[in-house]
Amino acid sequence: MAEIDKPQREVDVPGDWTYASAPESRDIVHIRDRYGYYVGGEWLEPAETYETISPRDEEPLAAVGQATAEDVGRAVAAARTAYADGWSSLPGSERAKYLFRIARILQERSREFAVLESLNGGKPIKESRDVDLPLAAAHFFYYAGWADKLEYAFPNRRPRPVGVAGQIIPWNFPLLMLAWKVAPALACGNTVVLKPAETTPLTALLFCDVLRQAELPDGVVNIVTGDGRTGAALVESEDVDKIAFTGSTEVGKEIQRRLAGTGKRLTLELGGKAANIVFDDAALDQAVEGIVNGIYFNQGHVCCAGSRLFVQESIYEPLVAKLERRLTTLRVGDPLDKNSDVGAINSAAQLEKIRELVASGVEEGAEIYQPPCVLPEKGYWFVPTVFTNVAQSYRIAQEEIFGPVLSVLTFRTPEEALEKANNTPYGLSAGVWTEKGSRILWMAQRLRAGVVWANTFNRFDPGSPFGGYKESGFGREGGRHGLEPYLRFDE
Ligand code: NDP
Repeated sequence: MAEIDKPQREVDVPGDWTYASAPESRDIVHIRDRYGYYVGGEWLEPAETYETISPRDEEPLAAVGQATAEDVGRAVAAARTAYADGWSSLPGSERAKYLFRIARILQERSREFAVLESLNGGKPIKESRDVDLPLAAAHFFYYAGWADKLEYAFPNRRPRPVGVAGQIIPWNFPLLMLAWKVAPALACGNTVVLKPAETTPLTALLFCDVLRQAELPDGVVNIVTGDGRTGAALVESEDVDKIAFTGSTEVGKEIQRRLAGTGKRLTLELGGKAANIVFDDAALDQAVEGIVNGIYFNQGHVCCAGSRLFVQESIYEPLVAKLERRLTTLRVGDPLDKNSDVGAINSAAQLEKIRELVASGVEEGAEIYQPPCVLPEKGYWFVPTVFTNVAQSYRIAQEEIFGPVLSVLTFRTPEEALEKANNTPYGLSAGVWTEKGSRILWMAQRLRAGVVWANTFNRFDPGSPFGGYKESGFGREGGRHGLEPYLRFDE
């Protein structure tokens, strides 16, 4: 018997069944060594380049152009020519065909884009695959539908395009922010110069391939890469009629100062410090999922993230216990692993900012909880974090951390929840968890936030307008409202 037992013992049977990685292959994406600017349907060779990397392991991915003011000027000139040479006077039904084509191609190539987005930006593949890509395509579909119905959207107001739009986007949703900006601009008959964020230019550059595939007329969309200097050059370019910016409140304010008195149009979608408010009659397990989605989705690099959790005092202990337990099940790791829930922090600079703010929370007296978690050795990572015992005055309750860090505060009455929730310079989004419809409506009417989610969080739809109050900016993107910034009306 002993001899029969022996070989059985030597078989390599896994003793731990909890986890096996499921990496998405990156073979589907071809990344070039070097990228120039996409201007007038051509690739322009850059004089200077910088290296874009993958935050998951700091692997260099490509050399990307650092556009100068002259390069930006060429892109704006190409956009102006395309505007005057036919795009602005093309019938809406014709413009719609291009937008539909772009949407279809994005769907067809979605895996390629999703892999590239995760590689360059660090977000988990399941998010780029299931959220960023479907929503980016949906935006093009949605605005394709409006292109020939502008007269109906704005009856008796003679909607006309504005001209050349300069669009500056951040690194947290690179392709999706591109779609939010490009789709309505084109639907309304404008042409575009877009600058992606310095750390995440690759999906915007791959998008140029889609434009060619869709046979979009040359110069209708132009893409220039570079750091903040390129963005500033675009803002200052005289022949741009409108600037659309998504990013930090600080840069947004600077842009607003620069454009004051120029007559150029401006929309700003800036930071946030959203309140996610849980009443004692809420379905707690559902609320915990919403809280997790609210703050750990996309590593918390979300302007509308539910970074301040307000819990009614009577359910504080069970809710925090459930939340902390749930955190132990979050898998932090390789963005290309289909099992990862939380990916890499986008850049070394952002990681430093998160660390600094978390240290300030500890120093000011908040209690920190971080689940046991083994982080990869290379790359930029941060453990999902919950702070309890947080006072409203603490920096972690006031400032946008833009990372996987939640501050928990308490309240007793709806009035108190409201007062605390509105006690912020921002006003982008909020969440309310309760079983009472009347309470949802009461809160939604009083919360100073552009979007209020009820018993859910971080839901997006191209038909739904998105934008802020106060220091979260002005103007709306999405929905019929999202057309207005790209139209002028000769009444
Ligand atoms: P920025 O506001 O600097 O970046 C947003 C975009 O603006 C990028 O394309 C950036 O280029 C560009 N830009 C930078 N400076 C200028 C300028 N002077 N004129 C015109 N364009 C400019 O955000 P950061 O990337 O520096 O992130 C800092 C903080 O901002 C984050 O920690 C977060 O709190 C917040 N943030 C908020 C976002 C939101 O969606 N509300 C999105 C991103 C950040 P480049 O990338 O080359 O710097």
